Amino acid sequence: MTLAPINMDHHWLPFTNNKLFHKEPQMFARASGVRYWTPDGREVLDGSSGLFTCAAGHGRSEIAEAVYAQLQTLDYTPHFQRAAPISFELAEKLAGILPEGLDRVFFGSSGSEAVDSAIKICMAYHKANGEPQRTKFVSRSWAYHGVNLGGTSLAGMVGNRRDFGGVTVDVVHMRHTWSEEQRYTCGMPDDGAHLADDLEEIAKTYGGETIAAVFVEPIAGSIGTIVPPKGYLKRLREIADKYGILLVFDEVITGFGRTGAAFAAQEFGVTPDVMTMAKALTNGAIPMSAVAVKTEIQKKVIESITADRPELMHGYTYSAHPVACAAALATLGIYERDGLFERGKALSPTFLEGVFSLRNLPQVSDLRGYGMLSGIQLTPGAAPGAKGSLVQRKLFDAGLHVKATGDALIFAPALVTEEVDLSAMVEILQKVLGQADLAA
Ligand code: PLP
Repeated sequence: MTLAPINMDHHWLPFTNNKLFHKEPQMFARASGVRYWTPDGREVLDGSSGLFTCAAGHGRSEIAEAVYAQLQTLDYTPHFQRAAPISFELAEKLAGILPEGLDRVFFGSSGSEAVDSAIKICMAYHKANGEPQRTKFVSRSWAYHGVNLGGTSLAGMVGNRRDFGGVTVDVVHMRHTWSEEQRYTCGMPDDGAHLADDLEEIAKTYGGETIAAVFVEPIAGSIGTIVPPKGYLKRLREIADKYGILLVFDEVITGFGRTGAAFAAQEFGVTPDVMTMAKALTNGAIPMSAVAVKTEIQKKVIESITADRPELMHGYTYSAHPVACAAALATLGIYERDGLFERGKALSPTFLEGVFSLRNLPQVSDLRGYGMLSGIQLTPGAAPGAKGSLVQRKLFDAGLHVKATGDALIFAPALVTEEVDLSAMVEILQKVLGQADLAA
C-alpha cells in the first residue's frame, strides 16, 4: 500500500519527544473493538483502552449515531444563563451511578478542566460556609491531576511541575503509598494505611482550618498504577472530616468500571465530597469531563448569593456541550445495557493473572494491579524514562499499544476485551519483556 506523504512540520504533539517521533512515527488510522490499524494496515492491539478512554471498545456505532443525530438537532448551545434539556438528562443519569450523596454535576471538556473546576468549587464552598481562609490544598507526591495550572500545582510528578514554577495554587504534598515491601503485590497492599496520617501532620503544621481540600487519585494511575493500601482511603476520610477538609477523589482514570464498580469510591467503600471524571464518560469519542459534588456543597454555594449574579464565577464555552452530552448518554447506555462494569469485574482475575505471569521476565522489576488496571515497572534503563520509551516502541512494533509513563507501562485493556485478545496482548508483553538485551 503506497501512503500519501505526511507533512509533520506543523503539529506539535503533546507529551511527546517530537524529534524522535518525526524519525519513528507511530500512527493509527483506524480502530474497531480492541484493535487499531496503522496507516499501512498493520494491526495493533489496544492494551490501554486508547488512553483509558475507550472502555467499551472503539468504533461504537451507538455513540456515532447519537452524536450525528445531536449535531443535526442542536449542534451547540451556550451554557452561561442558557441550557438545553440534554445536559439535565445526562446529569440525572450520572447521579444514578455516582456514589450516594454526590448528585450535583458540573461539566467541562477535559480531566484537567475538571480538576481546576473542583479546586475552585472547593474554595467557593468554604467561602460560602464562612471559612474563606481555607485556601491551601493537599495532594500526594507522584500524583497526576492534569496539566492546567491548578492540576499542575497539585501534581506530584516532578517532571510535570518543574518547568512551571510559581503556579498559583498553594499545595502541600503527602507521601505516595508505594514502598519496596509492596513489590509484586496484586490488589491492595496490607500495610500502609498509616501514611494517611500525613494529612493529620499537615493539618497540625499549617492549621487544619487553612486547608480547603485533599485531592487523591483512589488508584494513582499515571505514575504506573499504585493501589491504595487497605484502610488508607478510609483513614484519609476520617482525618479530613476531623479537620473540616473536603475529600476529593480524582477518578479520571478509575471511573466507569475500571476498578470493578462504577467508581473506585464505591469499590473501596469511601465516599468523597467531590469527584472528578472524564475519559470513559464518553468512551473517549468526544471530549467531556465532570465534577460531581455532594448536594449540600452545591446548595451552600448557590444559597450564599442573594444578588442576581452567578454564584460560581467559573465555566467553559464547551461546558455541557450538547454533542458531548449525547455521546455520554449513549456511552452510559452501553455500559448499562451490556453490563460492562460487571464484565470488567468478571474479567479482572484473568487479566491480573496475565499481568502477574510477567513476574520473572528480565525487563520487569515490579507489578501492580487492581480491577482492569495494572502497572508494569521496568528495570531501569540508561536514563529515567529511556527504557519506558524504548519498550513502548518495541511493543508497538510487535503489535501492542500500551501507555508508557517514565519506566512503567500502564496496561489497562477495554472492559469488552475477549479472553483470546487478552491472551494475545499478554503474549506480546511476554515476548518483548522477556528479551534480556532490549536495545540489541
Ligand atoms: N486527572 C487524572 C487522575 C488523570 O489521569 C488525568 C489524565 O490522565 C487528568 C486528570 C487529566 O485529564 P485530561 O488529560 O483529560 O486533561
